Amino acid sequence: MASTNCGWCGVLTHMIPSSQDPIRVPNPAGYGDPVFMSTFQCSNEHCSRYSIGYTTSRSQYLSREQFIVMPMEWEPANVRRPNFPDVPDRISETASEAHACLSVGAARGAVALARAVVEATAKEKSITAGSLMQKIDEMANQGIIRELTKETAHAIRDGGNEIAHGDIANDPMPLEDATAIVEFMDSLLEEVFQHPAKLDRLRQSHQNRKNP
Ligand SMILES: [Zn+2]
Repeated sequence: MASTNCGWCGVLTHMIPSSQDPIRVPNPAGYGDPVFMSTFQCSNEHCSRYSIGYTTSRSQYLSREQFIVMPMEWEPANVRRPNFPDVPDRISETASEAHACLSVGAARGAVALARAVVEATAKEKSITAGSLMQKIDEMANQGIIRELTKETAHAIRDGGNEIAHGDIANDPMPLEDATAIVEFMDSLLEEVFQHPAKLDRLRQSHQNRKNP
């Protein structure tokens, strides 16, 4: 069924479809499959606002039942901007924007920003020489990240998604590839900043309890 993070309230809700069949309109690109769209109401009772759900289909006609089980895009879109509280401000703001790009399907923007975050993370750890992949390797050499994290960066690259280099403007950038790269960015931030900060707090509170 049509569940999504509502673009108004941000809550993951079931979107209640209108009782009517979707309307069919030409693809705004001027070519390609027609667009089917309909209104949905947010089922969060504190919100209850309407959004437009839409999808493309080659069909001449889609019934309401056929329409509501299809993968849907939404207007307004829910723009995700997660916080990274233990990450230095500039880096966390950029990481948050990478997620915002991804949530509206801006795959290249997401990847460009995720790369900038990985770059800035290495710099924060005084690793400034070489390519981005060499910086990732060096972070592993210095024990800042695990071997597994480094290997993941290599695996993403070998899978054709270029985290480290590549020509963003010329390469196709499927959303799944961008999602993998942003997820890699998240685990890197977790490992380099968030996890150590969490352990540090734990140790502090333990010491405070022992020596009040
Ligand atoms: Zn809502």
